[in-house]
Amino acid sequence: MARRTKIIATIGPASEAESTLRDLVRAGMDVARLGLAHGTHDEAAQRMAAIRRIAAEEGRPVGILVDLPGPKVRAATFGEQSVSIVENSEIRLTVGRTRSTVEVMEVDYDGLLSDVVEGDRLSIGDGRVILEVSEADDDQLVARVMHGGVLSGRPGVHIPSDRLSITTPTSEDLVALEHFLELDVDMVAVSFVRSADDLRRLPVEPHPAGPLVVAKIETRAAVDDLQAIIGASGAVMVARGDLGNECRLEELPILQKEIIRECIALGRPAITATQMLETMITNPEPTRAEVSDVANAVWDGSSAVMLSGETAIGSDPANVVATMSRIAERADDEFDHRSWAAELSDLRLTDREEPDSAITDAMTMAAARAISELHIKTVLCISGSGFTVRSMARFRPEARILGFSADKRTVGQLTLSWGTEPIHLPEDGSIEARVESAVRAARETGHVQPGELVGVLAGTNVRSRSTNVLRLELVPPVA
Ligand code: PEP
Repeated sequence: MARRTKIIATIGPASEAESTLRDLVRAGMDVARLGLAHGTHDEAAQRMAAIRRIAAEEGRPVGILVDLPGPKVRAATFGEQSVSIVENSEIRLTVGRTRSTVEVMEVDYDGLLSDVVEGDRLSIGDGRVILEVSEADDDQLVARVMHGGVLSGRPGVHIPSDRLSITTPTSEDLVALEHFLELDVDMVAVSFVRSADDLRRLPVEPHPAGPLVVAKIETRAAVDDLQAIIGASGAVMVARGDLGNECRLEELPILQKEIIRECIALGRPAITATQMLETMITNPEPTRAEVSDVANAVWDGSSAVMLSGETAIGSDPANVVATMSRIAERADDEFDHRSWAAELSDLRLTDREEPDSAITDAMTMAAARAISELHIKTVLCISGSGFTVRSMARFRPEARILGFSADKRTVGQLTLSWGTEPIHLPEDGSIEARVESAVRAARETGHVQPGELVGVLAGTNVRSRSTNVLRLELVPPVA
């Protein structure tokens, strides 16, 4: 069986050359994540155009996720070479954006000196270096290095989120968002979300007219308000880097499972992110623990697993995607589809106040049962917004899911949906016409064979979100 769990790869200096982007698409990248911390918006937009062109040339849908940095605080660059920060040494922190050294780290946050106080612990580069602030003056902080380590580039500086006086989305986020909305970006990730209102402040139309909004869960406040945040989002990222700074590390695997379960209950794709194959930034093979981490993220119910530094600054980005693809595919093979479906019956939240979602929920449940009892190998979901496809994917059926939509934006957003092959189907006439053309398209592309029994989910009303028809059809022979 082909891989079902999706792969998100972050594009950075190591992967932005066209030949490398093509290698990433060929190796299995489903979604390209563009960070905005480095380079200009125009450069990111050029990368986005190049990825879209290469994906079209390769005949493989690749979604674009722009990650809005929010109040992400970074150190000014340490230069080309990595530097070693020695345990027990002292380092000064000032506000600045030019250059960091082992003696003075410049930090690009104007509120640094007012928000950080003596005794605060700062984690640099996702925990590579830990500092404790011993003195806070008007013009600098002095910190002792509690754990030393190697830093390179512009590492993130984690300030406890309850100390940060700026909220998300920042004014820079809103400027970036406007730029990428004009380019019809498929998905936007929002960093340092603390409440559902942070997501509602984004000036975007609900998807698919607007981008799928991905809430990054990386603050304590977000964990405390999880249901409301997931309810207000289109998808969720377990952003383990910053989350690991906000909670005790031993809580992380538990939070990962809780967040993913909550996403499944509410029908939102969950992305597990950060340090999944971290050692492959320099090494040709992952550690055995990393292999297990990716597989366990699949079995937890992640829709997608994400690569950050591994593909952005690593020595062999395409090898990392190929490695992750092999691990995820093998874990997908062992996925316990039967127990999952049984468990999901208890977990899913059917909102009877919302007839559209309740009907789709019941129809996809019926489809999951038919697929399992009749050993159906392919289910065709014809969807306007992608809601039916995501709802079907929640059941993790063994059958392959073909996600058809007349809306190209939906096709781009379905690149994140577990087990789904997104297909653009221009037909949006009567239900008969849509079912017929979807079955024909599936047969012509070799996804299904004449005489094969397939499941088809669709709605009688093309404009309504609800799917109210499940048909079990024999694929007709070629006329
Ligand atoms: C994280 O903190 O885990 C994360 C994914 O966010 P970023 O890469 O923006 O730090």
